[in-house]
Amino acid sequence: MDTNRVAEILAQKGAHKPCHRCDHVNFTVLDGFTKLLLQQSFRQGVEMDGPSVPVVSVACSNCGAVTAHALGALGLNLDT
Ligand SMILES: [Zn+2]
Repeated sequence: MDTNRVAEILAQKGAHKPCHRCDHVNFTVLDGFTKLLLQQSFRQGVEMDGPSVPVVSVACSNCGAVTAHALGALGLNLDT
């Protein structure tokens, strides 16, 4: 994954404000994607292959707070 490109896209969208937890200004784009699993109920347990949203995560370099951004909103896909 091109983490520099992700950082550029986030900056273009104005998503480069200080950390919401500690106000630190340096972040790291984590090299890889995560799928947020979407479930309506836990009655059947965790469904690993159900609907999901692919996200890229950014971590604060100071406190480690992690923020997820949906790939679709960034114009990216899983082949990026
Ligand atoms: Zn922080």
